[in-house]
Amino acid sequence: MTFHSGKCLCGEISYQIDGDPVAAGVCHCKNCQRQAGSAFSTLWGIPKAAIQFTGAMPKCYLDGDTASGGQVSRYFCGNCGSALYSEVPGQKDILYLKTGTLDDTDSFSPDFHAWCDSKQSWVDIPDGVTQMARQ
Ligand SMILES: [Zn+2]
Ligand SMILES: [Zn+2]
Repeated sequence: MTFHSGKCLCGEISYQIDGDPVAAGVCHCKNCQRQAGSAFSTLWGIPKAAIQFTGAMPKCYLDGDTASGGQVSRYFCGNCGSALYSEVPGQKDILYLKTGTLDDTDSFSPDFHAWCDSKQSWVDIPDGVTQMARQ
């Protein structure tokens, strides 16, 4: 059992994870690029029972215009705008944490890359890491 912690940029929202992620991946979908203002999202799948948020309530943007067609709930800090986590349809017990918000990011290492169809061309993915064109 491992312990992880993190927070948004301004610190109004922080979290503690008691346990280990069930998935570690990178999402190259266009909507993650827009929300992050960057090239991709780095994500940990975390059982909701294992993570505790403290401080302000995250705001939620309901993202219905997705490549998958499903509505993604994107949670972020209403004060500083940091993207914190997403929820996807059909996985109600898991959230997808944006791992750039971790205090110690050394423990993140992606096992897969999703939505490589929309990957930015300069991004190189190492051999041996699973790449999915879509989901
Ligand atoms: Zn904040
Ligand atoms: Zn995405």
